[in-house]
Amino acid sequence: MQKIAVIGTGYVGLVSGTCFAEIGNRIICCDIDETKIASLRRGIVPIYEPGLKELIDKNTAAGRLLFTSDVGAAIEASDIVYIAVGTPMSETGEADMKYVKDVARKIGEHLNGYKIIVNKSTVPVGTGELVRQIVSNHRKYPSVHFDVVSNPEFLREGSAISDCMNMDRAVIGSSSDKASKAIADLHAPFGTRIYLTDLESAEMIKYAANAFLATKISFINAIANICERVGADVVQVSEGMGLDSRIGGKFLQAGIGYGGSCFPKDTFALAHIADQSGYDFELLKAVIRTNDKQRLIVTDKLKQAIGTIEGKRIAVLGLAFKPHTDDMRYAPSLTIVPEIVQLGASVSAFDPIATETAKPLLPESVRYCGTVEEALEGCDACVILTEWPEIVGMDLTRAKRLMNATVLIDGRNCISPLSVQQHGFTYHSVGRRPVN
Ligand code: NAD
Repeated sequence: MQKIAVIGTGYVGLVSGTCFAEIGNRIICCDIDETKIASLRRGIVPIYEPGLKELIDKNTAAGRLLFTSDVGAAIEASDIVYIAVGTPMSETGEADMKYVKDVARKIGEHLNGYKIIVNKSTVPVGTGELVRQIVSNHRKYPSVHFDVVSNPEFLREGSAISDCMNMDRAVIGSSSDKASKAIADLHAPFGTRIYLTDLESAEMIKYAANAFLATKISFINAIANICERVGADVVQVSEGMGLDSRIGGKFLQAGIGYGGSCFPKDTFALAHIADQSGYDFELLKAVIRTNDKQRLIVTDKLKQAIGTIEGKRIAVLGLAFKPHTDDMRYAPSLTIVPEIVQLGASVSAFDPIATETAKPLLPESVRYCGTVEEALEGCDACVILTEWPEIVGMDLTRAKRLMNATVLIDGRNCISPLSVQQHGFTYHSVGRRPVN
C-alpha cells in the first residue's frame, strides 16, 4: 500500500487516482478548485465518465480515496506525488506550463521527507528537469531528497476506467533506478507491461504517440476525400488496409476529424517543440491543417444537399468530441454549429450528456433538445457529429415522419447507408460510396 497524492482532479487525476485506490493504495486527490472538491466530498462526480462514480463510491467507502483542496497537506501526507494538472494550449501553440510550475513550487514548499514526484500531465521534453529545479529552489528543508519520474497517461475519455485498469503499457522514465522501480511496483497489480526509459524519452513518447494517432486519422480522412472523388469506398479501403498487421485497423475510421482535450493541443505542442529545436515538422503541420479543414466538409455537404442554408432548420445530433464523454474541448461541433448558425439556419441540438458543458460555448440561439426525436421534429436536414448509441440507433421510420425533409449528413459514418436508403433519405457520409 502506497500513500499517494494526486494533484489535479480532472479527467486524468480523478480517474488514475481512483484506479490507484482500487488496487489498494491510499490516495488523496487534491485540487485548487474548491467547488470540485466539495462536490466530490458529497459524492457528486464533476465529470461524466462511465463507471467512475461507482468506483469512487466504493473506494471512498473503503477509506482509500480522499479529497481535499489543501494541496500542501496532501503532499506532506504522501510518499508519492502525482502531478495531473492541465497543460492547455497557449495562444502560440505550445503547452502552457503555468499549472505544472505552480504545483512544483507547492511540492517544494511541502517536501517534508523523501518523495517521488511523478509527472502524469502531458508536458514538453525537459519538464522533468524543470520540475526538479523548481522543487529544489523552493525546498523548505534543503537536505530532503526527492526523485522525478515521468509516467505519461494514455487513457481515453469515455473508456478511461477500463483503459486505466487494463492499460497497454506503463511508460516510466527517470534517472533514478530506485524511483523507477517504485513506480513500476505500483503498477504491478494492473498486470501491465512496464516500459522503463529516461525522463526525456518518456516525455517524448506521449507526444509522439498522440501525433502518430492524429496522423492516422488525418491520413484516412484525406483518403476518404479522395475516395469520394474517384468512386472508392473508404470503409472498405480502411478495412483492407487495417488487415495488414503493420498498419492495424485502429484510428482508421474516416469522419470529421479529431477533437478533444489531447490531440489538437498535443499536435500543436509537438510542432512547436520541433520548431524550437530547429526542425520543421512539416508532416505534423499537414496533419493539423488536414484536420482543421475536415470539419468544414459538413457545411459543404449540407449546402450540396439542401442548397441554401439560410432560413432552414437543422438538427445537430451529438456535440461532445466523441461518445461517452461530456468533454467539449476542441469538439468539431464548436466549429460546425456556429458556422451553420452564421449561415442563417436555426439549430436544434441533442447530446445525451454534453449539453450543459456545450451551452456556454455555442451560439445563444441554439435550441437544446432532450431527445433525438425532439431535435428532428420539423427540421430540413439532420447532421450527425457524435456517434452516441442513441443517435446511431435512432428509429429511421420515426425520424422520417418527424423531419420536414429527409436529408442526413453523417459526419461519423455511423449509420448504415443501405438502411437510410431503404427509408428514402438523401444521405451523405464521409468517403463512403452511395448505395444506389
Ligand atoms: P483537466 O483540465 O480536466 O484537470 C486539471 C485539473 O487540475 C483541474 O481540476 C484544475 O483545477 C487542477 N489544477 C490546476 N492547477 C492546480 C494546482 N496548482 N493545484 C491543484 N490542482 C490544480 O485536465 P485533464 O484532462 O485531466 O488533463 C490533465 C493532463 O493529462 C494534461 O496534461 C493532459 O494533456 C493529460 N492527458 C489528458 C487526457 C484526457 O483524456 N483528458 C489523457 C491523457 C493525458
